[in-house]
Amino acid sequence: MSSDIKSKIKEEEITKLAQELIKIPSDETAGEKEVCEYLESYLKSLGMKVRLQEVLPNRPNIIAEVIGDEVGKSIMFNGHVDTVPVGDIKKWSMDPYSAIIKDNKLFGRGSTDMKGAIASMIIAMKFIMNNVEKFNGKIIFTGVMAEETTGLGTQKIVEENIKADMAVVGEPSDEKIYRAHKGTMWFNLSTYGKLEHSSESNSESNNAIINMMKLIMEINEISKELETIENNLVGHPSINIGLIDGGTKQNMIADSCRISIDRRTLPEEKTDEILDKLRIRLDGLRSLDDRLTFDLEIDTIREAVEVAESEQIVQEVKNALNKVINKNPTISGMKATTDMSILVNQGNIPSVIYGPGFIKQAHTVDEFIEVKRLVESSQVYAEILLNTLTNN
Ligand SMILES: [Zn+2]
Repeated sequence: MSSDIKSKIKEEEITKLAQELIKIPSDETAGEKEVCEYLESYLKSLGMKVRLQEVLPNRPNIIAEVIGDEVGKSIMFNGHVDTVPVGDIKKWSMDPYSAIIKDNKLFGRGSTDMKGAIASMIIAMKFIMNNVEKFNGKIIFTGVMAEETTGLGTQKIVEENIKADMAVVGEPSDEKIYRAHKGTMWFNLSTYGKLEHSSESNSESNNAIINMMKLIMEINEISKELETIENNLVGHPSINIGLIDGGTKQNMIADSCRISIDRRTLPEEKTDEILDKLRIRLDGLRSLDDRLTFDLEIDTIREAVEVAESEQIVQEVKNALNKVINKNPTISGMKATTDMSILVNQGNIPSVIYGPGFIKQAHTVDEFIEVKRLVESSQVYAEILLNTLTNN
């Protein structure tokens, strides 16, 4: 049967589907619904049970199921239908939605992240439906919205209690299996001052920008300390100040200043403890200078995650990779944050990240995926399904 996978999972079919998906723009402003509707008719034509799940107005998820002959293990494939925006279109060498293939690479927004993976997953499911006489359990495909922004799509999946015994998230995994990833905390920090004419300014003035500078220096110290902490799968945590906004005009003493911070977290870190520690550090500065009042306002929290190497899904993906590419894959952790943490931490579904391509290709100008990666990962997905659903 494994040899059938190699002969029957064909490049043309995967690239054709991936191209159709790329041709439908679906960044956060629009298009997720159109991708879901395209997939809905495609998956129905394959004979799958399909439904759209409304998450926000005009922004659905798509859920498709393939039910086996008898009760058995269930496995979920998770992929996001949204992409990041194209950015400055003039920087692209081609139309990002034309989905052209050149030098065995499929170009376009979402090719790597991650419409290519969605196509690979679906063709693997099709292989099982059409070529495996008897299998048990269930395959669930969840195509989710808003992964690139809030994770609301996968959130809705777990809230509605759509369950599986295990899941694979198809983000580009750099030829590895990722069983962990970092989390993301976005928050804003504001300082205050006393608005006065700048001609009154002296070193004792209460200037929100100067006050912020002192907090920034403290955050820079924290950044150095974080570099000394190490998780063997995902590396060290980090803190980045990405945006600053303060004051009104040169000739006015600034009465407010705000920075936006991105703190990347480790699976063993707790977000409320991180915030408590930060508040204590910054409060310490205020005890030396009472002008250093601040407000901390949380924007987004997406958790980090880690599953044990002994989990069945880790072993299934590892064995499948061994069979298809004849190589023992590296099992590691991803630096970026994905929907895996929602499936594991909130949905209680042991999951891994395995998908075609390389994360460095995601979110770039002239994004592409090598066609051979799409074929390889589709074969790996099919092998995972075959082994999980026919050996139980
Ligand atoms: Zn992605």
